[in-house]
Amino acid sequence: MSVIAVDGPSASGKGTIARALASHFGLPYLDTGLLYRAVGLTVARSGDNPDNQVDALAACDFPDILLHDPELRAEATGGLASRVSVHPEVRTALLARQCSFAVQDGGAVLDGRDIGTVIAPDADAKLFITASAEARASRRFKEMIAQGDKPSFDNMLADIIARDARDTNRATAPLKPAEDALLLDTSDLTIDAAVQRAIALVSGKLEAAG
Ligand code: C5P
Repeated sequence: MSVIAVDGPSASGKGTIARALASHFGLPYLDTGLLYRAVGLTVARSGDNPDNQVDALAACDFPDILLHDPELRAEATGGLASRVSVHPEVRTALLARQCSFAVQDGGAVLDGRDIGTVIAPDADAKLFITASAEARASRRFKEMIAQGDKPSFDNMLADIIARDARDTNRATAPLKPAEDALLLDTSDLTIDAAVQRAIALVSGKLEAAG
């Protein structure tokens, strides 16, 4: 059975694509960003400092129930997640949970930033999903307007660029495509077209591997 790794920056479409791949291939799915978000939210709720590695490490003990908290999906929680994820000790603390999901019998789909490079380097198919910062900010902007918020597009774009820089430039497990990853740029694709393209890429890779 197959392990599929999906990586890419925020709002690239990787979560939607990974969920669709899991459903298409009948595999269990793990959104690894949620783990980092849970750590970030725990630090914030304790009044601790996400940039302090001792505070961030203490928050890795969060209870499983937190993974269902709607506040995990908030834009601000994404920023906190990106800050705690810089600490190598935090990444190590979250490693076992992700690796055991990846090696379970029957295969799995995982999405994140370092799935193809660190968590599942032997994955059968690896996708790296990208989109321009402007396209990603515009998606987030539309989502927030639909939710009744009044976001500033410029602030949203600045947040996305800052998060990309932090994820790409950190020393441990930076955001980057694995050497054998297939690249998919979704800037000019509808979500349906991006999903179909992702399914075709992964199917081709799995068939080629026999
Ligand atoms: O994917 P999502 O936007 O939920 O991730 C939130 C943050 O968690 C990312 O910006 C990144 O800093 C961190 N993350 C990570 N490694 C992963 C998944 C998420 O460093 N595998």
